[in-house]
Amino acid sequence: MNENSQPSASRAAVIALGSNLGDTGATLQAAVRDLGATAGVTVERMSRIHETVAVSLDGPDPSRPRFANAVALISTTLEPLPLLHALQAIEQRHHRRRDVRWGDRTLDLDIVDIPGVRLQTAELTVPHVRAAERDFVLAPWAEIDPTATLSGTPIVELLARVRSEGQES
Ligand code: ATP
Ligand code: CA
Ligand code: CA
Repeated sequence: MNENSQPSASRAAVIALGSNLGDTGATLQAAVRDLGATAGVTVERMSRIHETVAVSLDGPDPSRPRFANAVALISTTLEPLPLLHALQAIEQRHHRRRDVRWGDRTLDLDIVDIPGVRLQTAELTVPHVRAAERDFVLAPWAEIDPTATLSGTPIVELLARVRSEGQES
């Protein structure tokens, strides 16, 4: 209930999880448990864990530890920024360090999309700007929500596009 004694509206959100340091699978499982234990967050669905090659600033880098990636569908009464802060608190609990951009990390939690919400601030952009180009986000998402769209485009179409472009390079 909010201060007007109205039940707070719950909205869907799509969260991407990634890890390439430590026991990556266990970290993702623990992170999704932490997400479910967060006040105002319910985990509706969680994809399988996908193993993917790390991407550095100049492209895929097989010399780095592989990533475990997954996507969770949640419903939440949290506003977008408090949701981001809750995700960052979970990253901290799993010893996330921020040093090199797109570097190795124990846990990365991103807001991929909040259907019906568009936001562009210094701290948070929704939908996530790079989600439409990322196989490691689109594939686990399509597995648990095959009819989902991102900014109006079916995610299966985005995934097919990313994969055909990947074959050209
Ligand atoms: P990428 O954003 O390309 O996936 P990253 O996840 O490695 O890179 P981080 O260092 O984890 O980048 O985050 C950098 C900043 O991105 C965060 O401090 C946060 O304020 C901002 N940010 C903007 N939009 C989002 C979003 N949709 N989800 C998560 N963080 C976001
Ligand atoms: Ca990320
Ligand atoms: Ca991030």
